[in-house]
Amino acid sequence: MLDVFFDPVSVAVIGAAREPAKLGHAVLNNILQYGFKGRVYPINPKADEVLGLPCYPSVLAVPGPIDLAVIVIPAKFVAGVLEECGQKGVKGVITITAGFRETGSEGMRMEKELIAILNRYGMRMIGPNCLGLIDTIIPINASFAAGMPPQGNIAFMSQSGALCTAILDWSLAEGIGFSRFVSLGNKADTCEIDFLQAWDADPATKVVIAYLEGITDGPRFMDIARQVTQRTPIIAVKSGGTSAGARAVSSHTGTLAGSEAAYNAAFSQCGVMRADSVADLFDYSLAFAYQPLLTGDRLAIVTNAGGPGIMATDAIEHAGLKLASLQKETVDRLREFLPPAANFYNPVDVLGDALADRYGAALETVLNDPGVDGVIVLLTPQAMTQIVETARAVGQAAAKPRYIAPTGSIGAKHAKPVLGCFMGEKEVRKGIRVLAKHKVPNYPFPERAVGAFKAMYRYREWLSRPPREIARFEVDQAKVKEIFAQAKADNRLALGDVEARQVLGAYGLRIPQSQLAKNPDEAVAIATQLGYPVVMKIASPDIMHKSDVGGVKVDLGNATEVRDAFDLIVYRAQRYVPGADIWGVAVQEMVPQGREVIIGMNRDLQFGPLIMFGMGGIYVEVLKDVVFRVAPVTRQEAQEMVQEIRAYQLLRGVRGARPADVAAVIEAILRVSQLVTDFPEIVELDVNPLMVQEQGAGAIAVDMRIILA
Ligand code: ADP
Ligand code: MG
Repeated sequence: MLDVFFDPVSVAVIGAAREPAKLGHAVLNNILQYGFKGRVYPINPKADEVLGLPCYPSVLAVPGPIDLAVIVIPAKFVAGVLEECGQKGVKGVITITAGFRETGSEGMRMEKELIAILNRYGMRMIGPNCLGLIDTIIPINASFAAGMPPQGNIAFMSQSGALCTAILDWSLAEGIGFSRFVSLGNKADTCEIDFLQAWDADPATKVVIAYLEGITDGPRFMDIARQVTQRTPIIAVKSGGTSAGARAVSSHTGTLAGSEAAYNAAFSQCGVMRADSVADLFDYSLAFAYQPLLTGDRLAIVTNAGGPGIMATDAIEHAGLKLASLQKETVDRLREFLPPAANFYNPVDVLGDALADRYGAALETVLNDPGVDGVIVLLTPQAMTQIVETARAVGQAAAKPRYIAPTGSIGAKHAKPVLGCFMGEKEVRKGIRVLAKHKVPNYPFPERAVGAFKAMYRYREWLSRPPREIARFEVDQAKVKEIFAQAKADNRLALGDVEARQVLGAYGLRIPQSQLAKNPDEAVAIATQLGYPVVMKIASPDIMHKSDVGGVKVDLGNATEVRDAFDLIVYRAQRYVPGADIWGVAVQEMVPQGREVIIGMNRDLQFGPLIMFGMGGIYVEVLKDVVFRVAPVTRQEAQEMVQEIRAYQLLRGVRGARPADVAAVIEAILRVSQLVTDFPEIVELDVNPLMVQEQGAGAIAVDMRIILA
C-alpha cells in the first residue's frame, strides 16, 4: 500500500526554490545529490529552471506521470496543490510544510481538508509537518536533512523531525547505516502502523526503531506489532504526550493506572522493546542490526583488565542474565596459551599486556564453548595494547560460524553475538572504527553492552513464547447483561456491592455469602443463618472506602456483637458522611484470613481495558506494588503479572508460611479479563481484596466495585 514511498520512479518537488536558504531548495538538492535515479520535476510558477532542471508551474503542466510529490509550500496553498496532485494521478505525497494540527483549531481544519482530498483520490501522505523521507536502498533523500546516512539495515521512524536530524548527524559521525528513515510528522494519513507493516518483510531491514510520542490506534498497533515482531525486532522510545483521561477516577486501579503503565503493558504484550532513552534505542538497535540473535542467556567476558570485568559481571547478574561457566576443555585450552597469571575462568582476563593475537585466541576459544551464548570483549588501552589489531582479531572471530547446539550434536552453524566494550575515547576510537567495519558494535561502558544483550535476550524470550491463546470460561453473560441493563435504567453508574458481587459471581469468582440487613434484628437473623463469625459492612452508594469511615467490622461472634456492630456502623456512617444514602448493613460470611491481593481494571484511552494486579488491602496506593496488562490476557501473561510484583515471594510463601493458591489468582485474573473484554461498558473495576487462601484452597473476592460508562 505504501509502495509508492519505497519505489518511486518520478518525483516532483512542489515549492522547489532557487534560493539555497529555502527548504524547497534543500529538498530538491538532496534528491539530486544523493543518487535518485528516476525523473525529477521542480514545480514553481515563478521559476523557469532550478538547479539545472526545467521548472513547471504546476504538476498538471508536467508532461509525464508523477509517482511521488514532495510539498514544501506555505500551509494555506497545500490543499490546492494536493488537489492538483490528485488530478495528475500522483500516488503519494510527502507534506513537509508545517502549520496544521500542531497550531490549533484552524490548522486542524486545514489538516482535515487534506485528508478529504487524499481520500477522494486514493493518495497516501507522509506528514504534514515533517522532515521528509530518506531511503538508502532506492536511493532517495526526499528531506531537508543535512546529509544522507550510509546504507545499513536499521529502519527508523520518528514523530520528531528534529530528532531525525540529530540521529542523522550521529549516524554520519559513527558510520551507522540505515535502510529507511521516515519523519512521521503529524501522522494525518500514514502513521507508525503503516510503516511497521511496510518494513516487516523488508529484506533490507533487520531491525525497526521508532521514536513515538503517541500511538494512533492502540489495539491495532498491538495486533500489527505482535505479527511484525515474530520476524523483525522493534525497539521504541515513547515519550511525553500522556493520554490520561479527563474522567475523574474513583477506584484503586484508576488511581494507579496511567498512560505510562498502559504503554509498558502494551509494548510488553506485543514484543516491542521499550528503550528508556534515545541512548538505549541506539545501543539496542546496533546489537540487533550488526550481530546475530542471542540464543541463550549465558554470557562470557574476555577482558584485559580486572575492574571492568567485575563491572560487567555485576551488570550481567543485575540484568538477570547468566555468567557462563566455561567447560573444562575451554579452560584447558586457555591454559595452553595464556600466561599463568591470567584468569582462565569467566571473566577471562588475558592481562594488561595482551597483544592482539592473545585476545583473538582467547575470544576464539571462548566462542567455541557450547555453554557460551554471547561474548563481551572488554579492552582498556594500556601502553602496549594493539587497539586496531585487536579490533580486527575480534571482528574476525565474531564473524565465524560455530555450533550452537551442545557438543557432538549435528546442527547448523551460526555466528554467536559478540559486543565490544573498548573503553576510552582518544586512543580507542581507531579500534572502535575497525570494530564497526566488522559489524561489532561497541559500547563505552560494560553496563551498556550488557543492556544490549539483555534486549537481545528479551527478544529471544519473546520469540520462544507459546502461541497466543485466550482462555474462555463458561460464564453467565446473560445475568451480567441484565444487571447492567437495570443499573442503566436506574441511571446508576456505580454498581452497589450486591450487584458487583452478582456480576463477579456470574463470571465464576468465588464470593462470600452476604445479605443486606435494614435493622439489627434482620442482621442477627442473617448472621444466624450464615453461621458465626460474620463480617458487617456499611452499604451505601456514597461511601467508597468503607474502612475509612469505620464501616467494616470483622469477626463478630454472636448476636450481641452483631446488634452493637449494626448500630455503630450506621452511627459512624451518618456522622462521617452526613447525608449519605444508607441502605443498611451487609452481613457476610467471614472468610478465613489469607493474603490480600487486588485485581482491577481501568479503561485506557489508547489501549482499552488495562488489567491491574498487585498486593491488595487498604494500603494499595501506598505500596504501589502493582503490574498492568492490556486485556484480554493470556494465561502466560496472567502468570507473569503475578510473578512480576515485588511481593511475589510473599505469595510463594516465606519464613515458614505455606504457599498461597497462585493458580486460583491466575484464574481470577483471567476471569476478570474475560468480563471486561465482554463488557466494554465497564470503565473501572476493583476486586480488593481477593483473599487468597493456601495452595489448593482457592481465592475469594470479599470487596469489589464496578463503574459503568
Ligand atoms: P473497604 O475496602 O471499603 O474498606 P473491605 O470490604 O475491603 O472494605 O474490607 C476491609 C478489610 O476487611 C478487607 O481488606 C479485609 O481484610 C477485611 N474483610 C472484609 N470482608 C471480609 C470477609 N468477608 N471476610 C474476611 N475479611 C474481610
Ligand atoms: Mg476493599
